[in-house]
Amino acid sequence: MRFGDVTGHEDVKQSLREMVDSDRIPHALLLSGPQGLGKMLLTRALLQYIYCSDRRDGEPCGRCPACLQTAALNNPDIHWVFPVVKIKGKPTVSTDFYTEWKIMLEKHPYMEPEKWLDIIEAGNTRPVIYLDEANDIIRNAPLSSLSYRYKTYVIWLPEAMNLQAANTLLKLIEEPYPDTLFILVSDHPEDVLPTILSRTRRLNMRPVPPAAIEEWLRTRAGLTPSEAASSAAMAAGSPGKAIEFASNTGEQEEFGDIYRQMMRHAWKREVASLKELSEEIASMGREKNMRFLDYCSRMTRENFLCNFTLPPLNALSDEELRFSTHFAPFINYRNVENLITQTDRARRDISRNANAKIVMFDFMLSLCAIIRVQSGIKT
Ligand SMILES: [Zn+2]
Repeated sequence: MRFGDVTGHEDVKQSLREMVDSDRIPHALLLSGPQGLGKMLLTRALLQYIYCSDRRDGEPCGRCPACLQTAALNNPDIHWVFPVVKIKGKPTVSTDFYTEWKIMLEKHPYMEPEKWLDIIEAGNTRPVIYLDEANDIIRNAPLSSLSYRYKTYVIWLPEAMNLQAANTLLKLIEEPYPDTLFILVSDHPEDVLPTILSRTRRLNMRPVPPAAIEEWLRTRAGLTPSEAASSAAMAAGSPGKAIEFASNTGEQEEFGDIYRQMMRHAWKREVASLKELSEEIASMGREKNMRFLDYCSRMTRENFLCNFTLPPLNALSDEELRFSTHFAPFINYRNVENLITQTDRARRDISRNANAKIVMFDFMLSLCAIIRVQSGIKT
Protein backbone atom coordinates (compact mmCIF):
# COMPACT_ATOMS: atom_id res chain seq x y z
CA MET A 1 0.00 0.00 0.00
CA ARG A 2 1.35 3.37 -1.02
CA PHE A 3 0.10 6.78 0.10
CA GLY A 4 -0.85 7.38 -3.53
CA ASP A 5 -3.26 4.41 -3.37
CA VAL A 6 -5.32 6.14 -0.69
CA THR A 7 -7.92 8.66 -1.85
CA GLY A 8 -7.63 12.17 -0.41
CA HIS A 9 -6.20 13.08 3.02
CA GLU A 10 -3.19 14.85 1.52
CA ASP A 11 -2.62 16.90 4.68
CA VAL A 12 -2.53 13.83 6.92
CA LYS A 13 -0.27 11.97 4.48
CA GLN A 14 2.16 14.88 4.54
CA SER A 15 2.24 14.96 8.35
CA LEU A 16 2.88 11.22 8.45
CA ARG A 17 5.69 11.43 5.88
CA GLU A 18 7.34 14.22 7.83
CA MET A 19 7.19 12.24 11.07
CA VAL A 20 8.91 9.26 9.45
CA ASP A 21 11.40 11.28 7.38
CA SER A 22 12.53 13.27 10.41
CA ASP A 23 12.72 10.12 12.54
CA ARG A 24 10.21 11.59 14.95
CA ILE A 25 7.41 9.06 14.90
CA PRO A 26 5.23 9.57 18.00
CA HIS A 27 5.19 6.47 20.16
CA ALA A 28 1.41 6.59 20.24
CA LEU A 29 -0.43 7.88 17.21
CA LEU A 30 -4.20 8.12 16.87
CA LEU A 31 -5.84 8.24 13.45
CA SER A 32 -9.45 9.22 13.95
CA GLY A 33 -12.46 10.17 11.86
CA PRO A 34 -15.81 8.79 10.75
CA GLN A 35 -16.03 5.31 9.32
CA GLY A 36 -15.43 4.97 5.58
CA LEU A 37 -12.66 7.55 5.18
CA GLY A 38 -9.90 4.99 4.66
CA LYS A 39 -8.11 5.25 8.00
CA MET A 40 -6.88 1.66 7.87
CA LEU A 41 -5.71 2.06 4.27
CA LEU A 42 -3.69 5.06 5.35
CA THR A 43 -2.35 3.11 8.33
CA ARG A 44 -1.19 0.37 5.99
CA ALA A 45 0.54 2.90 3.73
CA LEU A 46 2.18 4.42 6.81
CA LEU A 47 3.38 1.02 8.04
CA GLN A 48 4.94 0.26 4.69
CA TYR A 49 6.58 3.69 4.67
CA ILE A 50 7.96 3.18 8.17
CA TYR A 51 9.43 -0.25 7.43
CA CYS A 52 10.61 0.35 3.82
CA SER A 53 14.40 0.30 3.45
CA ASP A 54 14.35 2.38 0.27
CA ARG A 55 11.83 5.22 0.67
CA ARG A 56 11.82 7.73 -2.12
CA ASP A 57 9.69 10.73 -3.12
CA GLY A 58 7.48 10.29 -0.08
CA GLU A 59 6.49 6.73 -0.95
CA PRO A 60 7.64 3.25 0.06
CA CYS A 61 9.56 1.47 -2.72
CA GLY A 62 7.17 -1.47 -2.94
CA ARG A 63 10.01 -3.90 -3.71
CA CYS A 64 12.23 -4.32 -0.65
CA PRO A 65 11.66 -7.33 1.66
CA ALA A 66 10.04 -5.07 4.27
CA CYS A 67 7.60 -3.63 1.73
CA LEU A 68 6.70 -7.09 0.44
CA GLN A 69 6.19 -8.52 3.93
CA THR A 70 4.20 -5.55 5.11
CA ALA A 71 1.99 -5.47 2.02
CA ALA A 72 1.31 -9.20 2.38
CA LEU A 73 0.38 -8.66 6.06
CA ASN A 74 3.28 -10.92 7.06
CA ASN A 75 5.60 -8.45 8.77
CA PRO A 76 6.56 -10.25 12.01
CA ASP A 77 7.06 -6.93 13.84
CA ILE A 78 3.56 -5.64 13.19
CA HIS A 79 1.00 -6.83 15.71
CA TRP A 80 -2.69 -6.33 14.99
CA VAL A 81 -5.08 -5.80 17.86
CA PHE A 82 -8.83 -5.64 17.28
CA PRO A 83 -12.14 -6.46 18.98
CA VAL A 84 -13.07 -10.13 19.04
CA VAL A 85 -15.65 -12.40 20.58
CA LYS A 86 -14.93 -14.43 23.69
CA ILE A 87 -13.64 -17.94 23.19
CA LYS A 88 -14.82 -20.22 25.97
CA GLY A 89 -12.18 -21.82 28.14
CA LYS A 90 -9.13 -20.00 26.78
CA PRO A 91 -7.68 -16.48 26.72
CA THR A 92 -9.34 -14.32 24.10
CA VAL A 93 -6.75 -12.62 21.92
CA SER A 94 -6.58 -11.19 18.41
CA THR A 95 -3.92 -13.64 17.22
CA ASP A 96 -6.51 -16.40 17.23
CA PHE A 97 -8.43 -14.42 14.61
CA TYR A 98 -5.60 -13.50 12.23
CA THR A 99 -7.03 -15.53 9.34
CA GLU A 100 -10.33 -13.64 9.62
CA TRP A 101 -8.44 -10.38 10.07
CA LYS A 102 -6.57 -10.80 6.80
CA ILE A 103 -9.85 -11.50 5.02
CA MET A 104 -11.28 -8.32 6.54
CA LEU A 105 -8.34 -6.15 5.47
CA GLU A 106 -8.33 -7.55 1.96
CA LYS A 107 -12.05 -7.70 1.27
CA HIS A 108 -13.29 -4.72 3.26
CA PRO A 109 -10.48 -2.16 3.24
CA TYR A 110 -12.83 0.54 4.57
CA MET A 111 -13.34 -1.56 7.67
CA GLU A 112 -17.10 -1.48 8.10
CA PRO A 113 -17.60 -2.87 11.66
CA GLU A 114 -20.69 -4.83 10.56
CA LYS A 115 -18.59 -6.70 8.01
CA TRP A 116 -16.28 -7.71 10.83
CA LEU A 117 -19.27 -9.04 12.83
CA ASP A 118 -20.12 -11.26 9.88
CA ILE A 119 -16.60 -12.53 9.33
CA ILE A 120 -16.10 -13.59 12.93
CA GLU A 121 -19.71 -14.78 13.13
CA ALA A 122 -20.34 -12.63 16.17
CA GLY A 123 -24.12 -13.00 16.02
CA ASN A 124 -25.62 -10.75 18.66
CA THR A 125 -22.39 -10.41 20.62
CA ARG A 126 -20.47 -7.19 20.57
CA PRO A 127 -16.76 -7.74 19.94
CA VAL A 128 -14.45 -6.39 22.63
CA ILE A 129 -10.72 -5.96 23.18
CA TYR A 130 -10.36 -7.99 26.37
CA LEU A 131 -7.95 -7.93 29.28
CA ASP A 132 -6.34 -11.13 27.90
CA GLU A 133 -5.23 -9.05 24.93
CA ALA A 134 -3.74 -6.31 27.08
CA ASN A 135 -1.89 -8.89 29.19
CA ASP A 136 -0.57 -10.50 26.04
CA ILE A 137 0.80 -7.15 24.84
CA ILE A 138 2.38 -6.45 28.23
CA ARG A 139 4.14 -9.83 28.07
CA ASN A 140 5.23 -9.42 24.46
CA ALA A 141 6.26 -5.76 24.46
CA PRO A 142 9.60 -6.08 26.33
CA LEU A 143 10.85 -8.68 23.83
CA SER A 144 12.97 -7.22 21.07
CA SER A 145 11.62 -6.90 17.56
CA LEU A 146 12.27 -9.82 15.25
CA SER A 147 13.35 -8.42 11.90
CA TYR A 148 13.21 -4.65 11.88
CA ARG A 149 13.96 -1.65 14.03
CA TYR A 150 10.39 -0.93 15.07
CA LYS A 151 7.83 -3.08 16.73
CA THR A 152 4.33 -1.78 16.04
CA TYR A 153 0.98 -2.47 17.63
CA VAL A 154 -1.95 -1.37 15.50
CA ILE A 155 -5.08 -1.16 17.61
CA TRP A 156 -8.25 -1.05 15.50
CA LEU A 157 -11.18 0.48 17.39
CA PRO A 158 -9.50 1.28 20.71
CA GLU A 159 -12.99 2.38 21.80
CA ALA A 160 -13.83 -1.35 22.00
CA MET A 161 -11.29 -1.96 24.79
CA ASN A 162 -12.98 -2.81 28.03
CA LEU A 163 -11.96 -0.77 31.04
CA GLN A 164 -9.59 -3.40 32.43
CA ALA A 165 -7.79 -3.72 29.11
CA ALA A 166 -7.54 0.04 28.70
CA ASN A 167 -6.20 0.56 32.20
CA THR A 168 -3.67 -2.22 31.74
CA LEU A 169 -2.35 -0.74 28.51
CA LEU A 170 -2.30 2.79 29.81
CA LYS A 171 1.15 2.66 31.35
CA LEU A 172 2.65 1.01 28.29
CA ILE A 173 1.16 3.57 25.95
CA GLU A 174 2.40 6.31 28.23
CA GLU A 175 5.93 4.97 28.49
CA PRO A 176 6.54 2.41 25.81
CA TYR A 177 9.76 0.55 25.23
CA PRO A 178 12.19 2.15 22.78
CA ASP A 179 11.27 1.74 19.12
CA THR A 180 7.84 0.47 20.03
CA LEU A 181 4.95 2.19 18.28
CA PHE A 182 1.25 2.20 18.96
CA ILE A 183 -1.06 3.22 16.15
CA LEU A 184 -4.69 3.57 17.23
CA VAL A 185 -7.33 3.67 14.51
CA SER A 186 -10.61 4.96 15.85
CA ASP A 187 -14.09 5.64 14.43
CA HIS A 188 -15.28 7.05 17.76
CA PRO A 189 -12.39 8.66 19.64
CA GLU A 190 -14.90 10.22 22.05
CA ASP A 191 -15.46 6.70 23.43
CA VAL A 192 -11.77 6.01 24.06
CA LEU A 193 -10.65 6.23 27.68
CA PRO A 194 -9.63 9.91 28.07
CA THR A 195 -6.40 9.01 29.85
CA ILE A 196 -5.34 6.97 26.81
CA LEU A 197 -6.53 9.63 24.40
CA SER A 198 -4.46 12.29 26.10
CA ARG A 199 -1.30 10.24 25.64
CA THR A 200 -1.62 9.99 21.88
CA ARG A 201 -0.66 12.32 19.09
CA ARG A 202 -3.96 12.69 17.26
CA LEU A 203 -4.43 13.13 13.55
CA ASN A 204 -8.04 13.66 12.61
CA MET A 205 -9.10 12.69 9.12
CA ARG A 206 -11.68 14.85 7.42
CA PRO A 207 -14.19 14.06 4.66
CA VAL A 208 -12.62 13.76 1.21
CA PRO A 209 -13.72 16.42 -1.35
CA PRO A 210 -16.31 14.96 -3.80
CA ALA A 211 -14.12 15.90 -6.78
CA ALA A 212 -11.29 13.71 -5.47
CA ILE A 213 -13.67 10.80 -4.88
CA GLU A 214 -15.17 11.25 -8.32
CA GLU A 215 -11.81 11.20 -10.04
CA TRP A 216 -10.74 8.13 -8.12
CA LEU A 217 -13.98 6.27 -8.98
CA ARG A 218 -13.44 7.02 -12.66
CA THR A 219 -9.75 6.33 -12.91
CA ARG A 220 -9.25 3.57 -10.33
CA ALA A 221 -12.64 1.88 -9.98
CA GLY A 222 -13.58 2.09 -13.67
CA LEU A 223 -16.94 3.83 -13.22
CA THR A 224 -18.52 5.88 -16.00
CA PRO A 225 -18.34 9.67 -15.46
CA SER A 226 -22.04 9.91 -14.56
CA GLU A 227 -21.92 6.94 -12.15
CA ALA A 228 -18.80 8.38 -10.55
CA ALA A 229 -20.37 11.82 -10.20
CA SER A 230 -23.58 10.60 -8.57
CA SER A 231 -21.83 8.15 -6.21
CA ALA A 232 -19.33 10.82 -5.17
CA ALA A 233 -22.09 13.37 -4.57
CA MET A 234 -24.02 11.00 -2.33
CA ALA A 235 -21.03 9.78 -0.37
CA ALA A 236 -20.66 12.87 1.83
CA GLY A 237 -16.88 12.73 1.73
CA SER A 238 -16.55 9.02 2.43
CA PRO A 239 -14.76 6.97 -0.25
CA GLY A 240 -15.98 3.79 1.48
CA LYS A 241 -19.60 4.91 1.10
CA ALA A 242 -18.97 5.95 -2.51
CA ILE A 243 -17.77 2.44 -3.32
CA GLU A 244 -20.83 1.03 -1.61
CA PHE A 245 -23.18 3.25 -3.64
CA ALA A 246 -21.33 2.39 -6.82
CA SER A 247 -21.65 -1.33 -6.20
CA ASN A 248 -25.38 -1.10 -5.45
CA THR A 249 -26.67 0.92 -8.36
CA GLY A 250 -30.44 0.87 -8.77
CA GLU A 251 -30.87 0.57 -5.03
CA GLN A 252 -31.17 4.33 -4.59
CA GLU A 253 -34.37 4.42 -6.66
CA GLU A 254 -35.78 1.50 -4.69
CA PHE A 255 -34.93 3.24 -1.40
CA GLY A 256 -36.43 6.46 -2.74
CA ASP A 257 -39.77 4.71 -3.33
CA ILE A 258 -39.80 3.18 0.12
CA TYR A 259 -38.76 6.45 1.76
CA ARG A 260 -41.58 8.40 0.10
CA GLN A 261 -44.15 5.76 1.07
CA MET A 262 -42.82 5.71 4.62
CA MET A 263 -43.05 9.47 5.04
CA ARG A 264 -46.57 9.61 3.61
CA HIS A 265 -47.77 6.84 5.93
CA ALA A 266 -46.00 8.51 8.88
CA TRP A 267 -47.68 11.83 8.14
CA LYS A 268 -51.10 10.18 7.92
CA ARG A 269 -50.30 7.98 10.92
CA GLU A 270 -51.20 4.85 9.01
CA VAL A 271 -49.78 2.47 11.54
CA ALA A 272 -50.88 -0.73 9.81
CA SER A 273 -49.21 0.36 6.57
CA LEU A 274 -46.05 1.30 8.46
CA LYS A 275 -46.01 -2.12 10.07
CA GLU A 276 -46.29 -3.77 6.68
CA LEU A 277 -43.57 -1.56 5.23
CA SER A 278 -41.23 -2.14 8.18
CA GLU A 279 -41.61 -5.91 7.69
CA GLU A 280 -40.88 -5.56 4.01
CA ILE A 281 -37.67 -3.67 4.74
CA ALA A 282 -36.65 -5.99 7.56
CA SER A 283 -36.84 -8.95 5.17
CA MET A 284 -34.14 -7.40 2.98
CA GLY A 285 -31.38 -8.38 5.40
CA ARG A 286 -29.13 -6.49 7.74
CA GLU A 287 -26.69 -4.95 5.27
CA LYS A 288 -29.45 -3.58 3.07
CA ASN A 289 -31.34 -2.31 6.12
CA MET A 290 -28.30 -0.32 7.09
CA ARG A 291 -27.92 1.09 3.62
CA PHE A 292 -31.59 2.09 3.70
CA LEU A 293 -31.07 3.93 6.99
CA ASP A 294 -28.05 5.67 5.48
CA TYR A 295 -30.34 6.70 2.66
CA CYS A 296 -32.83 8.10 5.23
CA SER A 297 -30.03 10.11 6.87
CA ARG A 298 -29.01 11.52 3.54
CA MET A 299 -32.60 12.48 2.70
CA THR A 300 -33.02 14.20 6.06
CA ARG A 301 -29.89 16.22 5.44
CA GLU A 302 -30.74 17.07 1.84
CA ASN A 303 -34.34 18.02 2.59
CA PHE A 304 -33.29 20.20 5.47
CA LEU A 305 -30.84 21.97 3.17
CA CYS A 306 -33.54 22.35 0.50
CA ASN A 307 -35.20 24.88 2.80
CA PHE A 308 -32.22 27.18 2.47
CA THR A 309 -30.88 26.77 -1.03
CA LEU A 310 -32.76 27.73 -4.15
CA PRO A 311 -32.06 26.31 -6.60
CA PRO A 312 -30.86 23.39 -4.48
CA LEU A 313 -27.15 22.75 -4.49
CA ASN A 314 -27.74 19.27 -3.19
CA ALA A 315 -27.24 15.86 -4.64
CA LEU A 316 -30.80 14.74 -5.41
CA SER A 317 -32.11 12.80 -8.38
CA ASP A 318 -35.01 14.32 -10.39
CA GLU A 319 -37.51 12.05 -8.64
CA GLU A 320 -36.13 12.92 -5.21
CA LEU A 321 -36.16 16.59 -6.05
CA ARG A 322 -39.84 16.49 -7.09
CA PHE A 323 -40.73 14.94 -3.74
CA SER A 324 -38.50 17.27 -1.77
CA THR A 325 -40.10 20.37 -3.26
CA HIS A 326 -43.16 19.56 -1.14
CA PHE A 327 -41.57 17.57 1.61
CA ALA A 328 -38.61 19.76 2.61
CA PRO A 329 -40.58 22.14 4.89
CA PHE A 330 -41.50 19.18 7.09
CA ILE A 331 -37.86 18.81 8.02
CA ASN A 332 -36.95 21.92 9.90
CA TYR A 333 -34.67 23.19 12.60
CA ARG A 334 -37.03 21.94 15.30
CA ASN A 335 -37.07 18.27 14.32
CA VAL A 336 -33.98 17.68 12.21
CA GLU A 337 -31.76 16.72 15.11
CA ASN A 338 -34.26 14.28 16.58
CA LEU A 339 -34.78 12.73 13.18
CA ILE A 340 -31.08 12.14 12.73
CA THR A 341 -30.79 10.73 16.25
CA GLN A 342 -33.61 8.25 15.65
CA THR A 343 -32.10 7.16 12.34
CA ASP A 344 -28.64 6.73 13.87
CA ARG A 345 -30.11 4.75 16.73
CA ALA A 346 -31.95 2.42 14.38
CA ARG A 347 -28.81 1.96 12.30
CA ARG A 348 -26.73 1.19 15.37
CA ASP A 349 -29.28 -1.34 16.64
CA ILE A 350 -29.41 -3.05 13.26
CA SER A 351 -25.61 -3.13 13.09
CA ARG A 352 -25.64 -4.89 16.45
CA ASN A 353 -28.00 -7.51 15.09
CA ALA A 354 -31.13 -6.40 16.93
CA ASN A 355 -34.42 -7.72 15.55
CA ALA A 356 -34.88 -5.74 12.34
CA LYS A 357 -38.70 -5.94 12.33
CA ILE A 358 -38.89 -4.37 15.77
CA VAL A 359 -36.21 -1.76 15.10
CA MET A 360 -37.71 -0.66 11.79
CA PHE A 361 -41.25 -0.50 13.16
CA ASP A 362 -40.11 1.53 16.18
CA PHE A 363 -38.20 3.83 13.89
CA MET A 364 -41.23 4.42 11.68
CA LEU A 365 -43.51 5.01 14.66
CA SER A 366 -41.08 7.64 15.92
CA LEU A 367 -41.39 9.39 12.56
CA CYS A 368 -45.17 9.87 13.02
CA ALA A 369 -44.51 12.06 16.03
CA ILE A 370 -41.44 13.83 14.71
CA ILE A 371 -42.90 14.82 11.37
CA ARG A 372 -46.08 16.34 12.76
CA VAL A 373 -45.77 17.63 16.27
CA GLN A 374 -42.37 19.15 15.99
CA SER A 375 -42.91 20.73 12.60
CA GLY A 376 -45.25 23.11 14.35
CA ILE A 377 -48.17 22.24 12.07
CA LYS A 378 -51.41 21.81 13.96
CA THR A 379 -52.89 18.34 13.65
ZN1 LIG B 1 10.43 -0.75 0.35
